[in-house]
Order: sequence, then C-alpha cells, then structure tokens
Amino acid sequence: MRILITGAAGFLGSHLCDHLLKDGHEVIGMDNFVTGSPDNIAHLADNDNFSFYRRDVSEYIFVPGKVDAILHFASPASPNPQSKSGYFNLPIQTMKAGALGTHNCLGLARAQNARFLLASTSEIYGDPEVHPQVETYTGNVDPIGTRAVYDEAKRFAESLTMAYHRSHNVNTSIVRIFNTYGPRLDLEDGRALPNMIKQALLGQPLTVYGDGSQTRSFCYVDDLIDGIVKLLYSEEHFPVNMGNPHERTILQFAETINKVTGNTAGITYVDARSARDPQRRRPDITRAQTILNWEPKVSLEEGLLRSIPYFKQKLGLA
Ligand code: NAD
Ligand code: UDP
Repeated sequence: MRILITGAAGFLGSHLCDHLLKDGHEVIGMDNFVTGSPDNIAHLADNDNFSFYRRDVSEYIFVPGKVDAILHFASPASPNPQSKSGYFNLPIQTMKAGALGTHNCLGLARAQNARFLLASTSEIYGDPEVHPQVETYTGNVDPIGTRAVYDEAKRFAESLTMAYHRSHNVNTSIVRIFNTYGPRLDLEDGRALPNMIKQALLGQPLTVYGDGSQTRSFCYVDDLIDGIVKLLYSEEHFPVNMGNPHERTILQFAETINKVTGNTAGITYVDARSARDPQRRRPDITRAQTILNWEPKVSLEEGLLRSIPYFKQKLGLA
C-alpha cells in the first residue's frame, strides 16, 4: 500500500512509519514540526520507500499519486500546562488539527477511496465515571474545561469520521489510545513518563502531582503500534480502545521508575495539575482482544528498560 501518515515526525507517527516500511509499504510522512522533531525521522532520509511533506494538515492537503490508506496522527498531545508543546499552549492549533485536519484527511480518503484511521484518545472519556472505560461509555467532558481544546477536538474528529463512513461509505476506523510511552517521547513535553525518566536519570526526586493516588495504565509503544496496524488491516469501523489494562497509581509508577533506574533521590509531592486531571483511567480492551486478537505483552519494567537507552542518549549520559 501507499500510506500517508500525518504527525509522522512525532512519537507515535515515527514508530508507525518504521513499522509500515518494515511491512513493505510505501510511506508518505506529513508534519509541520509544531511538537515533533525531524530527528525522529532522520534515519528514514535514505529510504526509497519513504517521502516527507512539511505541511500543516489544517490547510488543504494534496499528495500526488494514489493513496491507499491515511493515518491521521497530527495533533499536539501533551496535557502539561507548563510545556511549550502542550495543548494548553497551542489551543487553536489543537482544535484545528482535530477538526480541520481530520476533515482534510477524510476528504482525501474519500477522493482516493482509501482506508482512514483516526488517532483518538482516552481523553474523549474525560474524567471517567465508568471504570474501566469501555467503548460504549460516552464520557464526562466539560466543553469549556481546561482540557477541552483537546478532548472536544478529538470527539468532533470521531463524529466527523463516523459521518464520512455513514454518509460517504468511507472505510474508516478509530483507535482510542491510552497512555503510551517509549523511545522518541519528547523529554520536554511534560508527560509523566519523559518527565520522571529525565528526573530519575539525572538523580533528582520524581515530581508526583497531588498525592499520586490518581491512576493510569501505561502501554509500551511497540505493543500499541502492533495493535494499530492490526486495526488498519482489519475492516473494523467502530472505535477500539488500545492501551495496557494494568492499572497503577502514579505514585506506584514513580516508585517503579526509581527502582528500575536505581535512583535514590526519592519522590517530591507538588501541586496537583488541575481539578480536571482524570482520577482513574484504565482501558477495557475486550473489543481489541475479540476483534483483532490483540493485547499488550510488554511489562512496565521491561518497557522502561527498553526506553532508558534512548533517554540517556538524549540527556548526553550514554
Ligand atoms: P507528538 O506530539 O509526538 O506527535 C504529534 C505530531 O503531530 C508532531 O510531530 C507534530 O509536529 C504533528 N502535528 C501537530 N499538529 C500538526 C498540524 N497541524 N499539521 C501537521 N503536523 C502536526 O504526539 P504523539 O504522542 O505521537 O501523539 C500522536 C497522536 O496520537 C495524537 O493525535 C495524539 O492525540 C494521539 N494520542 C497519543 C497518546 C500517547 O500516549 N502518546 C495517547 C492518546 C492519543
Ligand atoms: N504526573 C505527575 N508528575 C509528572 C508528570 C505527570 O505526577 O511529572 C501525573 C499527572 O498529573 C497525571 C499522570 O501523571 O495524573 C499522567 O500524566 P500525563 O502527562 O502522562 O498524561 P495524562 O494521562 O494526564 O493525559
């Protein structure tokens, strides 16, 4: 296939490029580097099956030749208000990437009769009142809350995707991604894993926001990418949760990072991020298991060990 990946210079987009090139496809990457980096795709520069367009997907997009599939991953993704690349500081760009960017990609998919895959998020469930989160749960999102620019853009993107499927019969799919980590996460984007790994490798105490009792489940990137590719190759149209169902508190997560890295500086408690920081999050992955025969295999300890060399190199410690 000839596959367009938007957000190709980001964390997940660049891993998708690698995987799909390995599967023998031709990959066209598109990105405007608002939160991603050319470093993430530099190793593909000499690959004849890879080409790249520097474009903003919120503007009309054109790709010469036939396109068989489009994976729409372009969007700021970090919820950290302190981070320059977090969506709090890129509110209009975030809404445009989710709304106009999705519209442009769906228009291209329709014109090209291409399979379309939307990167959605566990954030569409907001601060969930149903636990674990199952795809039929409709969520708890404040449309004008501090996270709304991201959450509502993704919710709109899902609605538009289903509208193109139902009205124009576009072959669409939606993955709701839960917290994922691994090499190429931006050390400065303020998400829990890069923040804490950086602190641990520098021998600093790990910052736990609030009392650390809020929960997440963290999926290693290779597991997630395997699942996304299975979804791409399937005929599924309805949203599928993907993430690691092993739930732990953020405090347990921080303790595991300190143990795996041998950091003895401990933990420091700082103010909670906001009242809107989701308190519990865990995917129900029964649909992915049933439809795609997919579930994650890499434990947190193993995933951390696989990630550490990258972060050491980025910090100049390797
Ligand atoms: P990332 O910031 O590393 O990657 C996003 C990429 O999109 C960046 O390279 C950025 O430059 C690009 N981009 C943003 N707006 C653009 C625009 N208007 N035009 C062109 N390119 C643009 O983030 P990520 O973690 O790789 O996330 C990728 C996708 O997966 C996002 O859509 C995000 O919402 C979704 N997602 C990620 C996670 C996770 O845990 N990593 C969880 C849920 C959903
Ligand atoms: N968090 C933390 N310390 C940090 C960074 C994040 O305690 O240095 C917490 C944050 O408040 C949230 C959880 O870790 O409860 C996961 O945050 P992340 O930024 O990875 O993404 P989210 O799951 O909130 O979208």
